[in-house]
Amino acid sequence: TESASAAAEVQRLLRPDLRGRTAYGAPQLDVPVRLNTNENSYPVPQAVVDAILEALAGDVASLNRYPDRDFADLRAALTAYVVRQSGVPVTPEQVWAGNGSNEVLSHVVQAFGGSGRVALGFTPSYSMHPIISETLGATWVDGLRGAGRPGAFDLTAEAAAEQARRHHPAVVFLCSPNNPTGTALPFEVITAVLEAAPDAIVVVDEAYAEFARAGTRSALTLVADNPRLVVTRTMSKAFAFAGGRLGYLVAAPEVVDALRLVRLPYHLSTPTQTIARVALEHAELMLGTVEVIKAQRDRIVERLATLGAAPVASDSNFVLFGGLADEKATWQALLDRGVLVRDVGIAHHLRVTAGDPEETTAFLEAMVALAPTHL
Ligand code: PMP
Repeated sequence: TESASAAAEVQRLLRPDLRGRTAYGAPQLDVPVRLNTNENSYPVPQAVVDAILEALAGDVASLNRYPDRDFADLRAALTAYVVRQSGVPVTPEQVWAGNGSNEVLSHVVQAFGGSGRVALGFTPSYSMHPIISETLGATWVDGLRGAGRPGAFDLTAEAAAEQARRHHPAVVFLCSPNNPTGTALPFEVITAVLEAAPDAIVVVDEAYAEFARAGTRSALTLVADNPRLVVTRTMSKAFAFAGGRLGYLVAAPEVVDALRLVRLPYHLSTPTQTIARVALEHAELMLGTVEVIKAQRDRIVERLATLGAAPVASDSNFVLFGGLADEKATWQALLDRGVLVRDVGIAHHLRVTAGDPEETTAFLEAMVALAPTHL
């Protein structure tokens, strides 16, 4: 047929290293309880909706002009938020933003990774790290967590440093709290990797930082003393703003400057800059659900433990759990009960986002019903 030959033609023309790949993406299914992409279940508060609409109204007539290329107002709002949230002194020159943290991660790889260079991460971790690296031409090295023992997801400073020394990476990805396992990294892992990979930019992906348990130290505290360290964050999770597409990073001003070489001009639209800035100005309201979500997360961990479903300790808004005879069968059985969770490709495990109390109840009740036959 015509479309079959068009498909063959596209495969012929495509970069050889992209042939046969499938696109990243969790199923976007219309089910009652969606707990598969670690979003925040709560809608944007009405007061913030009103403030955003008012600010946007002022923007629309000037959409004939390109946006502020250097997003000065948004950058100031991000800086103020980071300082308030982390207590770490940060200046606007240290802050960079993009359409989601995926975009700022791609800027880092474009500038510091790419063809002929090695990017190293520690699997299982966020699956976009290898996809961004490889689609931008870097060679991905799948480092190991838990020394490769099935069901062990810890990463020690020694193991991380040894792998960093062995592979001579140009970019190292650390993820804390780690997706999909949920646990924050021991702080020494970050310092050990910085030391063991002297020619690398070390990225600490802190997408879930605001959900961390007390006592977790952010890599932001190391940025001032480490010009090779980049800490990425996002408004998609705790901030309940995934649809706004705003991610950011904190690094040395010189690193931020280098990212200007690879970003497309005017990459943050005027509406994006406005809605994110106004949301940040209402940070306290926007983050009002974090404690509720953390309580649901802890509830999931406790209940799954009593069921024998081996939950992994979580500093994020999701829980990885194991002990499943067949994770694909459990995924389908949960879906049949209207609950969508994530199969992250780890045998005998699934990942569930902590939603609101009703969603959490729906998930836990389904798990209780399934436990006798699925665990
Ligand atoms: N980093 C991690 C660890 C994530 O889990 C996600 C979202 N799934 C992202 C980055 C990207 O999020 P966004 O592009 O929405 O900021």
